[in-house]
Amino acid sequence: MQRFCKQLPATARAFAHSRPITTKSGSWMEGKLADDTNYVHSGVSPDERTGALLTPLFLSTTFVQESVEKYLEKGYSYSRTNNPTVSTLEAKLAVLENGYGAACFGTGMAATTSAICATMVAGDHCVISDCSYGGTNRSCREFFSHLGMSFSFVDFRDPEIVRKAMKPNTKLVFSETPANPVLTLTDIQAVSDIAHAGGAKHVVDATFATPVMVRPLDWGADMVIQSLTKYYEGHNMMTGGALISKDKEMHARVKFMQNVHGNIINPFAAFMVLQTSKTMALRVRQQSHNAMAISEFLEKHPKVTKVCYPGLASHPQKALADKYHRDGIHGGMLWFEILGGVEAGKKLMNVCQRPWSLCENLGATESIITACAVMTHANMLKEDRLKVGITDGFIRVSCGIEDKEDLIRALSIALDQI
Ligand code: PLP
Repeated sequence: MQRFCKQLPATARAFAHSRPITTKSGSWMEGKLADDTNYVHSGVSPDERTGALLTPLFLSTTFVQESVEKYLEKGYSYSRTNNPTVSTLEAKLAVLENGYGAACFGTGMAATTSAICATMVAGDHCVISDCSYGGTNRSCREFFSHLGMSFSFVDFRDPEIVRKAMKPNTKLVFSETPANPVLTLTDIQAVSDIAHAGGAKHVVDATFATPVMVRPLDWGADMVIQSLTKYYEGHNMMTGGALISKDKEMHARVKFMQNVHGNIINPFAAFMVLQTSKTMALRVRQQSHNAMAISEFLEKHPKVTKVCYPGLASHPQKALADKYHRDGIHGGMLWFEILGGVEAGKKLMNVCQRPWSLCENLGATESIITACAVMTHANMLKEDRLKVGITDGFIRVSCGIEDKEDLIRALSIALDQI
Protein backbone atom coordinates (compact mmCIF):
# COMPACT_ATOMS: atom_id res chain seq x y z
CA MET A 1 0.00 0.00 0.00
CA GLN A 2 2.84 2.38 0.86
CA ARG A 3 4.00 2.05 -2.72
CA PHE A 4 0.88 3.84 -3.96
CA CYS A 5 0.43 6.70 -1.53
CA LYS A 6 2.06 7.46 1.78
CA GLN A 7 -1.20 8.03 3.50
CA LEU A 8 -4.69 7.19 2.32
CA PRO A 9 -6.78 10.27 1.64
CA ALA A 10 -9.46 11.12 4.18
CA THR A 11 -12.28 9.83 1.98
CA ALA A 12 -10.68 6.39 1.76
CA ARG A 13 -10.22 6.27 5.51
CA ALA A 14 -13.74 7.42 6.15
CA PHE A 15 -15.15 4.69 3.91
CA ALA A 16 -12.67 1.98 4.77
CA HIS A 17 -15.54 -0.21 5.82
CA SER A 18 -18.96 -0.29 4.22
CA ARG A 19 -21.66 0.61 6.65
CA PRO A 20 -24.99 -1.15 6.28
CA ILE A 21 -28.14 0.62 7.37
CA THR A 22 -28.89 -0.46 10.89
CA THR A 23 -32.15 -0.56 12.74
CA LYS A 24 -33.61 -1.10 16.14
CA SER A 25 -36.66 -2.93 14.79
CA GLY A 26 -36.08 -6.52 15.79
CA SER A 27 -33.01 -7.98 17.43
CA TRP A 28 -31.19 -11.18 16.56
CA MET A 29 -30.85 -14.12 18.89
CA GLU A 30 -27.35 -14.80 20.20
CA GLY A 31 -24.95 -17.11 18.42
CA LYS A 32 -23.52 -17.88 15.03
CA LEU A 33 -25.96 -18.21 12.14
CA ALA A 34 -25.89 -21.03 9.61
CA ASP A 35 -24.99 -20.24 5.99
CA ASP A 36 -28.55 -20.74 4.74
CA THR A 37 -29.77 -18.09 7.20
CA ASN A 38 -26.93 -15.75 6.22
CA TYR A 39 -27.82 -15.97 2.52
CA VAL A 40 -31.21 -14.50 3.38
CA HIS A 41 -30.41 -12.07 6.19
CA SER A 42 -26.74 -11.13 6.44
CA GLY A 43 -26.04 -7.42 6.19
CA VAL A 44 -29.73 -6.57 5.93
CA SER A 45 -31.99 -5.09 8.61
CA PRO A 46 -35.51 -3.66 8.29
CA ASP A 47 -35.51 0.04 7.40
CA GLU A 48 -35.40 2.08 10.59
CA ARG A 49 -37.75 4.82 9.38
CA THR A 50 -40.49 2.77 7.73
CA GLY A 51 -39.99 -0.83 8.85
CA ALA A 52 -39.64 -1.91 5.19
CA LEU A 53 -38.33 -5.48 5.31
CA LEU A 54 -36.20 -5.00 2.18
CA THR A 55 -33.42 -2.43 2.14
CA PRO A 56 -34.89 0.49 0.15
CA LEU A 57 -33.52 1.41 -3.26
CA PHE A 58 -31.74 4.72 -2.66
CA LEU A 59 -31.46 6.56 -5.96
CA SER A 60 -30.28 9.84 -4.46
CA THR A 61 -26.99 11.07 -5.84
CA THR A 62 -26.25 13.20 -2.82
CA PHE A 63 -26.91 13.18 0.91
CA VAL A 64 -27.70 16.29 2.95
CA GLN A 65 -25.33 16.89 5.86
CA GLU A 66 -26.49 18.05 9.26
CA SER A 67 -23.86 20.77 9.46
CA VAL A 68 -20.34 21.46 8.29
CA GLU A 69 -19.14 20.13 11.63
CA LYS A 70 -21.27 17.00 11.34
CA TYR A 71 -20.18 16.18 7.78
CA LEU A 72 -20.36 12.42 7.08
CA GLU A 73 -22.07 11.77 10.40
CA LYS A 74 -24.55 9.41 8.71
CA GLY A 75 -21.85 7.85 6.56
CA TYR A 76 -22.95 9.07 3.14
CA SER A 77 -22.10 12.09 1.01
CA TYR A 78 -22.21 11.20 -2.69
CA SER A 79 -23.32 7.98 -4.39
CA ARG A 80 -20.11 7.40 -6.33
CA THR A 81 -18.34 7.09 -3.00
CA ASN A 82 -21.01 5.16 -1.11
CA ASN A 83 -24.71 4.54 -1.36
CA PRO A 84 -26.86 2.91 1.33
CA THR A 85 -28.31 0.21 -0.97
CA VAL A 86 -24.87 -0.60 -2.33
CA SER A 87 -23.31 -0.60 1.17
CA THR A 88 -25.91 -3.09 2.33
CA LEU A 89 -25.02 -5.44 -0.52
CA GLU A 90 -21.31 -4.98 0.26
CA ALA A 91 -21.92 -5.84 3.93
CA LYS A 92 -23.83 -8.94 2.87
CA LEU A 93 -21.07 -10.11 0.51
CA ALA A 94 -18.40 -9.58 3.17
CA VAL A 95 -20.28 -11.96 5.47
CA LEU A 96 -21.01 -14.56 2.78
CA GLU A 97 -17.39 -14.65 1.56
CA ASN A 98 -15.95 -14.34 5.07
CA GLY A 99 -13.98 -11.19 4.24
CA TYR A 100 -13.29 -7.91 5.99
CA GLY A 101 -15.14 -5.87 3.37
CA ALA A 102 -16.51 -5.92 -0.16
CA ALA A 103 -16.62 -3.37 -2.97
CA CYS A 104 -19.27 -3.75 -5.67
CA PHE A 105 -18.66 -2.78 -9.29
CA GLY A 106 -20.67 -2.35 -12.49
CA THR A 107 -19.37 -5.65 -13.92
CA GLY A 108 -17.15 -8.58 -13.01
CA MET A 109 -14.47 -7.20 -15.34
CA ALA A 110 -14.41 -3.94 -13.36
CA ALA A 111 -13.71 -6.01 -10.24
CA THR A 112 -10.94 -7.90 -12.07
CA THR A 113 -9.21 -4.80 -13.41
CA SER A 114 -9.54 -3.16 -9.99
CA ALA A 115 -7.87 -6.17 -8.34
CA ILE A 116 -4.93 -5.73 -10.72
CA CYS A 117 -4.80 -1.95 -10.17
CA ALA A 118 -4.96 -2.42 -6.40
CA THR A 119 -1.97 -4.75 -6.30
CA MET A 120 0.33 -3.75 -9.17
CA VAL A 121 2.11 -0.72 -10.62
CA ALA A 122 4.34 -0.36 -13.69
CA GLY A 123 7.34 -2.67 -13.41
CA ASP A 124 5.46 -5.30 -11.39
CA HIS A 125 4.90 -8.88 -12.48
CA CYS A 126 1.88 -11.17 -12.17
CA VAL A 127 1.64 -14.95 -12.38
CA ILE A 128 -1.75 -15.72 -13.85
CA SER A 129 -3.54 -18.86 -14.93
CA ASP A 130 -3.20 -19.71 -18.62
CA CYS A 131 -6.84 -20.64 -18.45
CA SER A 132 -9.18 -17.96 -17.25
CA TYR A 133 -12.12 -15.97 -18.53
CA GLY A 134 -11.31 -14.55 -22.00
CA GLY A 135 -11.86 -10.95 -20.88
CA THR A 136 -9.37 -11.37 -18.02
CA ASN A 137 -6.79 -12.80 -20.40
CA ARG A 138 -7.36 -9.94 -22.83
CA SER A 139 -7.10 -7.23 -20.15
CA CYS A 140 -3.64 -8.52 -19.18
CA ARG A 141 -2.33 -9.07 -22.71
CA GLU A 142 -3.81 -6.06 -24.47
CA PHE A 143 -4.16 -3.46 -21.75
CA PHE A 144 -2.11 -3.85 -18.56
CA SER A 145 0.99 -5.09 -20.38
CA HIS A 146 1.01 -1.77 -22.26
CA LEU A 147 1.13 0.02 -18.90
CA GLY A 148 4.47 -1.61 -18.06
CA MET A 149 3.19 -4.60 -16.09
CA SER A 150 4.25 -8.10 -17.08
CA PHE A 151 2.32 -11.37 -16.95
CA SER A 152 3.34 -15.03 -16.97
CA PHE A 153 0.47 -17.24 -18.10
CA VAL A 154 1.03 -20.67 -16.55
CA ASP A 155 -0.76 -23.91 -15.73
CA PHE A 156 -2.23 -23.54 -12.24
CA ARG A 157 -3.09 -27.23 -11.90
CA ASP A 158 0.40 -27.73 -10.51
CA PRO A 159 1.45 -25.29 -7.73
CA GLU A 160 5.12 -26.07 -8.50
CA ILE A 161 4.69 -24.42 -11.91
CA VAL A 162 3.33 -21.34 -10.15
CA ARG A 163 6.30 -21.36 -7.76
CA LYS A 164 8.77 -21.54 -10.64
CA ALA A 165 7.08 -18.61 -12.40
CA MET A 166 7.49 -16.30 -9.37
CA LYS A 167 9.98 -13.44 -9.81
CA PRO A 168 11.42 -10.92 -7.36
CA ASN A 169 8.96 -8.33 -8.72
CA THR A 170 5.88 -10.60 -8.60
CA LYS A 171 3.18 -8.71 -6.74
CA LEU A 172 0.10 -10.63 -7.81
CA VAL A 173 -0.81 -14.28 -8.27
CA PHE A 174 -4.14 -14.53 -10.07
CA SER A 175 -6.07 -17.78 -10.17
CA GLU A 176 -9.53 -18.78 -11.30
CA THR A 177 -11.18 -21.89 -9.87
CA PRO A 178 -12.95 -23.72 -11.36
CA ALA A 179 -11.50 -22.07 -14.46
CA ASN A 180 -13.75 -20.82 -17.24
CA PRO A 181 -14.39 -22.84 -19.36
CA VAL A 182 -12.13 -25.89 -18.91
CA LEU A 183 -12.96 -26.44 -15.21
CA THR A 184 -9.40 -26.95 -14.03
CA LEU A 185 -8.98 -26.40 -10.29
CA THR A 186 -6.42 -24.52 -8.23
CA ASP A 187 -5.05 -25.72 -4.91
CA ILE A 188 -5.90 -22.39 -3.25
CA GLN A 189 -4.02 -23.08 -0.03
CA ALA A 190 -0.80 -24.14 -1.75
CA VAL A 191 -0.89 -21.25 -4.22
CA SER A 192 -1.65 -18.72 -1.43
CA ASP A 193 1.42 -19.99 0.48
CA ILE A 194 3.57 -19.62 -2.65
CA ALA A 195 2.29 -16.09 -3.30
CA HIS A 196 2.88 -15.00 0.30
CA ALA A 197 6.36 -16.54 0.42
CA GLY A 198 7.21 -14.35 -2.59
CA GLY A 199 5.64 -11.22 -1.06
CA ALA A 200 2.68 -11.26 -3.46
CA LYS A 201 -1.08 -11.22 -3.01
CA HIS A 202 -3.25 -14.12 -4.16
CA VAL A 203 -6.47 -13.10 -5.89
CA VAL A 204 -8.99 -15.80 -6.77
CA ASP A 205 -11.76 -15.40 -9.31
CA ALA A 206 -14.34 -17.70 -7.73
CA THR A 207 -17.23 -16.76 -9.99
CA PHE A 208 -17.86 -20.39 -11.05
CA ALA A 209 -17.62 -21.62 -7.47
CA THR A 210 -19.61 -19.05 -5.47
CA PRO A 211 -19.23 -19.20 -1.68
CA VAL A 212 -21.77 -22.01 -1.70
CA MET A 213 -19.01 -24.22 -3.12
CA VAL A 214 -15.68 -22.60 -2.10
CA ARG A 215 -14.69 -19.67 0.09
CA PRO A 216 -11.13 -18.85 -1.02
CA LEU A 217 -10.50 -16.42 1.84
CA ASP A 218 -10.84 -19.37 4.25
CA TRP A 219 -7.97 -21.07 2.39
CA GLY A 220 -5.48 -18.20 2.55
CA ALA A 221 -6.39 -16.05 -0.48
CA ASP A 222 -6.23 -12.27 -0.06
CA MET A 223 -9.05 -11.22 -2.35
CA VAL A 224 -11.97 -12.87 -4.11
CA ILE A 225 -13.51 -11.74 -7.37
CA GLN A 226 -17.13 -12.45 -8.15
CA SER A 227 -18.88 -11.59 -11.39
CA LEU A 228 -22.24 -10.90 -9.76
CA THR A 229 -23.67 -11.17 -13.28
CA LYS A 230 -23.48 -14.95 -12.84
CA TYR A 231 -24.69 -16.96 -9.83
CA TYR A 232 -25.24 -14.13 -7.35
CA GLU A 233 -27.67 -12.36 -9.66
CA GLY A 234 -28.65 -15.61 -11.32
CA HIS A 235 -31.60 -14.46 -13.47
CA ASN A 236 -29.93 -12.91 -16.54
CA MET A 237 -31.15 -9.44 -15.47
CA MET A 238 -28.16 -7.38 -14.30
CA THR A 239 -24.42 -7.07 -14.58
CA GLY A 240 -22.28 -6.56 -11.51
CA GLY A 241 -18.99 -7.46 -9.89
CA ALA A 242 -17.46 -7.64 -6.45
CA LEU A 243 -14.02 -7.63 -4.90
CA ILE A 244 -14.00 -9.01 -1.38
CA SER A 245 -10.85 -8.39 0.67
CA LYS A 246 -9.60 -10.35 3.61
CA ASP A 247 -8.04 -7.45 5.45
CA LYS A 248 -8.86 -3.87 6.27
CA GLU A 249 -5.87 -2.32 4.52
CA MET A 250 -6.58 -3.99 1.17
CA HIS A 251 -10.28 -3.21 1.43
CA ALA A 252 -9.52 0.47 2.12
CA ARG A 253 -7.21 0.48 -0.91
CA VAL A 254 -9.91 -1.00 -3.16
CA LYS A 255 -12.58 1.44 -1.94
CA PHE A 256 -10.21 4.35 -2.44
CA MET A 257 -9.45 3.25 -5.99
CA GLN A 258 -13.10 2.68 -6.73
CA ASN A 259 -13.86 6.24 -5.69
CA VAL A 260 -11.05 7.41 -8.00
CA HIS A 261 -12.15 5.28 -10.97
CA GLY A 262 -15.88 5.61 -10.36
CA ASN A 263 -16.66 2.09 -11.59
CA ILE A 264 -19.41 1.41 -9.07
CA ILE A 265 -22.42 -0.86 -9.29
CA ASN A 266 -25.61 1.15 -9.71
CA PRO A 267 -28.04 1.10 -6.76
CA PHE A 268 -30.79 -0.59 -8.79
CA ALA A 269 -28.53 -3.54 -9.67
CA ALA A 270 -27.40 -3.67 -6.03
CA PHE A 271 -31.03 -3.77 -4.91
CA MET A 272 -31.75 -6.66 -7.30
CA VAL A 273 -28.67 -8.65 -6.26
CA LEU A 274 -29.64 -8.13 -2.61
CA GLN A 275 -32.83 -10.07 -3.38
CA THR A 276 -31.49 -12.68 -5.83
CA SER A 277 -28.54 -13.64 -3.63
CA LYS A 278 -31.00 -14.86 -0.96
CA THR A 279 -31.81 -17.87 -3.15
CA MET A 280 -28.30 -18.47 -4.49
CA ALA A 281 -27.55 -21.50 -2.32
CA LEU A 282 -30.83 -23.16 -3.33
CA ARG A 283 -30.16 -22.45 -6.99
CA VAL A 284 -26.55 -23.64 -6.89
CA ARG A 285 -27.59 -26.91 -5.24
CA GLN A 286 -30.21 -27.55 -7.94
CA GLN A 287 -27.79 -26.51 -10.71
CA SER A 288 -25.14 -28.89 -9.32
CA HIS A 289 -27.66 -31.68 -9.07
CA ASN A 290 -28.65 -31.10 -12.73
CA ALA A 291 -25.00 -30.83 -13.84
CA MET A 292 -24.16 -34.17 -12.22
CA ALA A 293 -27.14 -35.91 -13.86
CA ILE A 294 -26.38 -34.39 -17.28
CA SER A 295 -22.66 -35.28 -17.01
CA GLU A 296 -23.54 -38.89 -16.19
CA PHE A 297 -25.94 -39.02 -19.14
CA LEU A 298 -23.33 -37.57 -21.52
CA GLU A 299 -20.56 -39.84 -20.22
CA LYS A 300 -22.62 -42.88 -21.23
CA HIS A 301 -23.71 -41.51 -24.62
CA PRO A 302 -21.95 -43.23 -27.56
CA LYS A 303 -21.59 -39.99 -29.53
CA VAL A 304 -19.87 -38.11 -26.71
CA THR A 305 -16.07 -38.35 -26.69
CA LYS A 306 -15.27 -36.24 -23.62
CA VAL A 307 -17.16 -34.88 -20.60
CA CYS A 308 -15.66 -32.73 -17.90
CA TYR A 309 -17.38 -32.05 -14.58
CA PRO A 310 -15.61 -31.78 -11.20
CA GLY A 311 -18.20 -34.11 -9.63
CA LEU A 312 -17.35 -37.00 -11.97
CA ALA A 313 -14.84 -39.61 -10.84
CA SER A 314 -13.18 -39.10 -14.25
CA HIS A 315 -12.33 -35.44 -13.52
CA PRO A 316 -8.49 -35.37 -13.41
CA GLN A 317 -8.54 -33.28 -10.21
CA LYS A 318 -11.38 -35.06 -8.41
CA ALA A 319 -9.38 -35.28 -5.16
CA LEU A 320 -8.88 -31.51 -5.17
CA ALA A 321 -12.58 -31.00 -5.94
CA ASP A 322 -13.45 -33.15 -2.93
CA LYS A 323 -11.04 -31.22 -0.73
CA TYR A 324 -12.31 -27.74 -1.67
CA HIS A 325 -15.93 -28.08 -2.78
CA ARG A 326 -18.20 -27.88 0.22
CA ASP A 327 -20.97 -30.41 0.88
CA GLY A 328 -20.26 -32.30 -2.35
CA ILE A 329 -21.45 -29.35 -4.46
CA HIS A 330 -19.41 -29.16 -7.66
CA GLY A 331 -21.30 -26.38 -9.44
CA GLY A 332 -23.54 -25.97 -12.44
CA MET A 333 -20.87 -25.86 -15.16
CA LEU A 334 -19.65 -28.71 -17.39
CA TRP A 335 -18.30 -29.12 -20.89
CA PHE A 336 -18.19 -31.83 -23.51
CA GLU A 337 -17.08 -32.75 -27.02
CA ILE A 338 -18.72 -35.10 -29.47
CA LEU A 339 -17.74 -37.47 -32.28
CA GLY A 340 -17.27 -35.61 -35.54
CA GLY A 341 -15.27 -32.80 -33.91
CA VAL A 342 -15.80 -29.16 -34.69
CA GLU A 343 -18.57 -29.50 -37.26
CA ALA A 344 -20.61 -31.93 -35.16
CA GLY A 345 -20.19 -29.72 -32.08
CA LYS A 346 -21.40 -26.66 -33.97
CA LYS A 347 -24.34 -28.61 -35.38
CA LEU A 348 -25.36 -29.86 -31.95
CA MET A 349 -25.39 -26.32 -30.57
CA ASN A 350 -27.47 -25.17 -33.54
CA VAL A 351 -30.10 -27.91 -33.29
CA CYS A 352 -30.43 -28.12 -29.53
CA GLN A 353 -33.94 -27.03 -28.58
CA ARG A 354 -35.50 -25.29 -25.59
CA PRO A 355 -35.26 -25.37 -22.63
CA TRP A 356 -31.62 -24.90 -23.75
CA SER A 357 -30.56 -21.50 -25.10
CA LEU A 358 -27.49 -20.84 -27.23
CA CYS A 359 -25.97 -17.68 -25.77
CA GLU A 360 -23.29 -16.22 -23.51
CA ASN A 361 -23.60 -15.84 -19.74
CA LEU A 362 -23.86 -18.56 -17.15
CA GLY A 363 -25.02 -19.26 -13.63
CA ALA A 364 -28.64 -18.29 -14.17
CA THR A 365 -31.96 -20.08 -13.77
CA GLU A 366 -32.06 -20.79 -17.54
CA SER A 367 -29.85 -23.55 -18.96
CA ILE A 368 -27.38 -22.25 -21.53
CA ILE A 369 -25.00 -23.79 -24.04
CA THR A 370 -22.11 -21.71 -25.34
CA ALA A 371 -19.65 -22.14 -28.19
CA CYS A 372 -16.67 -20.72 -26.27
CA ALA A 373 -14.32 -20.57 -29.28
CA VAL A 374 -16.51 -18.01 -31.06
CA MET A 375 -18.29 -16.47 -28.10
CA THR A 376 -16.80 -16.05 -24.60
CA HIS A 377 -13.18 -16.90 -25.46
CA ALA A 378 -13.00 -15.50 -28.99
CA ASN A 379 -10.63 -12.78 -27.77
CA MET A 380 -7.98 -15.27 -26.60
CA LEU A 381 -5.16 -15.97 -29.06
CA LYS A 382 -6.14 -19.12 -31.00
CA GLU A 383 -2.92 -20.95 -30.08
CA ASP A 384 -3.42 -20.14 -26.37
CA ARG A 385 -7.03 -21.27 -26.57
CA LEU A 386 -6.13 -24.60 -28.19
CA LYS A 387 -3.23 -25.13 -25.77
CA VAL A 388 -5.63 -25.18 -22.81
CA GLY A 389 -8.14 -27.35 -24.66
CA ILE A 390 -10.78 -24.90 -25.87
CA THR A 391 -11.26 -26.48 -29.28
CA ASP A 392 -13.64 -25.10 -31.90
CA GLY A 393 -16.11 -27.90 -31.06
CA PHE A 394 -15.93 -27.30 -27.29
CA ILE A 395 -19.47 -27.12 -25.84
CA ARG A 396 -19.82 -25.30 -22.51
CA VAL A 397 -22.92 -26.01 -20.51
CA SER A 398 -24.38 -23.87 -17.74
CA CYS A 399 -27.10 -25.84 -16.04
CA GLY A 400 -30.15 -23.94 -14.89
CA ILE A 401 -32.74 -24.97 -12.36
CA GLU A 402 -35.20 -26.65 -14.75
CA ASP A 403 -36.13 -30.31 -14.40
CA LYS A 404 -33.11 -32.46 -15.22
CA GLU A 405 -35.14 -34.96 -17.27
CA ASP A 406 -36.32 -32.19 -19.63
CA LEU A 407 -32.76 -30.97 -20.08
CA ILE A 408 -31.47 -34.48 -20.76
CA ARG A 409 -34.31 -35.21 -23.20
CA ALA A 410 -33.54 -32.05 -25.24
CA LEU A 411 -29.83 -32.97 -25.37
CA SER A 412 -30.68 -36.54 -26.35
CA ILE A 413 -32.90 -35.34 -29.23
CA ALA A 414 -30.11 -33.01 -30.42
CA LEU A 415 -27.50 -35.81 -30.25
CA ASP A 416 -29.81 -38.09 -32.29
CA GLN A 417 -29.72 -35.49 -35.09
CA ILE A 418 -25.93 -35.50 -35.40
N1 PLP B 1 -14.86 -13.96 -14.30
C1 PLP B 1 -15.41 -15.04 -14.86
C2 PLP B 1 -14.99 -16.41 -14.40
C3 PLP B 1 -16.36 -14.92 -15.88
O1 PLP B 1 -16.89 -16.01 -16.43
C4 PLP B 1 -16.72 -13.61 -16.32
C5 PLP B 1 -17.69 -13.41 -17.40
O2 PLP B 1 -18.15 -14.35 -18.03
C6 PLP B 1 -16.11 -12.52 -15.70
C7 PLP B 1 -15.19 -12.72 -14.70
C8 PLP B 1 -16.46 -11.12 -16.11
O3 PLP B 1 -17.73 -10.79 -15.60
P1 PLP B 1 -18.67 -9.69 -16.28
O4 PLP B 1 -19.19 -10.27 -17.55
O5 PLP B 1 -19.73 -9.45 -15.24
O6 PLP B 1 -17.83 -8.49 -16.53
